[in-house]
Amino acid sequence: MDILALNCGSSSVKYQLFDWKRREVIAKGMVERVTVGDSFIVHEVPGRETYREEYECPSHETAIHLIIKILADAEHGVVKEIDEISAVGHRVVHGGEKFTRSVMIDEDVLAGIKEVQHLAPLHNPPNIAGIEAARSVLPDVPHVAIFDTAFHQTMPEHAYTYPLPHEWYTKYGVRRYGFHGTSHAYVSHRAAEILQKPFNELKLVTCHLGNGSSITAVDCGKSVDTSLGFGTVPGVLMGTRSGEVDPTLVLYLMDKENLDTKLMSHILHKESGILGISGISSDLRDVEEAAEQGNQRAKLALDMLCYGVRKHIGAYAAAMGGIDAIVFTAGIGENSSTVRKMVVEGLEFLGADVDPEKNNVRGKERIISTDGAKVSVVVVPTNEELVIARDTKELIKV
Ligand code: AMP
Repeated sequence: MDILALNCGSSSVKYQLFDWKRREVIAKGMVERVTVGDSFIVHEVPGRETYREEYECPSHETAIHLIIKILADAEHGVVKEIDEISAVGHRVVHGGEKFTRSVMIDEDVLAGIKEVQHLAPLHNPPNIAGIEAARSVLPDVPHVAIFDTAFHQTMPEHAYTYPLPHEWYTKYGVRRYGFHGTSHAYVSHRAAEILQKPFNELKLVTCHLGNGSSITAVDCGKSVDTSLGFGTVPGVLMGTRSGEVDPTLVLYLMDKENLDTKLMSHILHKESGILGISGISSDLRDVEEAAEQGNQRAKLALDMLCYGVRKHIGAYAAAMGGIDAIVFTAGIGENSSTVRKMVVEGLEFLGADVDPEKNNVRGKERIISTDGAKVSVVVVPTNEELVIARDTKELIKV
């Protein structure tokens, strides 16, 4: 049984086709520049050369048609007939308070996703376009929605409520939602398996550190707090997003620099964070290299990132009344031994300590804490597509 996982962005469609019996990805790729012109597909099949084809995709529907065409192509494809695809799982960024778990898509669910699209105006509309397109291209198979926000719906009221006039919560849905939920759910489950401890008895802090970053407190299997909020700017500094800033400072700078909300939003999302501080790049590899060569601003960005992550771990340990393990994932968390070392240094008082030799690892599951440390430190490469495929399989019940 093959399951197609789709992730539709505003101008891209990423896909992975799983052979679910073997739990293997049999093909994956991405259509880029969808709706903007000069679009093309990059298609990868394990053991074969990567295939690239220029193909105009003025809509998400054409892009999905193209993906299906390539998947069933005699030369580049991996299925003989398109009906070998039994179901499609769709990543949806925002489920508001409506969706607390993955759901089978029908007209009501689609209407529900549209109802909350004002909460993620950049992300939900392309997700919706992708669902509509895929349902029209593959009308006879079940479609499932997997939400980035769903895992965090277990947060208690005192953690998700903002200290603003409470009527804004009822009027606009103003609250902390959190993101990267699929990743936090996956790595926290995997960490419990790696540590051979029951998931429902562990206090974990999961650090998803990539271009976008968030830290989550997972208490006995449930997300109880997370660093991203109503939007995707708060928490630790990210590639180009600021992380936490004093809201009065935003107002002050808008005034001083004569910035409207659109420009200020652009600066907070695209010109801040690691890029804004280092002045070099949003890519941590470049920044680590520059810091090593003595660049002070690069060093400052690195210090700020690690300090911010460490502060969150401390806060979440306090929120949960203890901590059993710290989990690192995503581009930076999986690959940067420097960041992992710098984050955990200073957490010895909690009982966390990283073994330098074990920490010398990239993109592989590994326990990197010293033997006998009270708090385990674990690297777990994230796999959001696998969660999409797994939830899809569970919901279609075949
Ligand atoms: P993601 O958004 O999860 O793809 O993560 C992207 C981030 O991971 C970028 O800031 C990359 O610089 C960072 N990254 C990827 N590989 C490494 C590496 N080997 N060392 C440090 N950072 C890395």
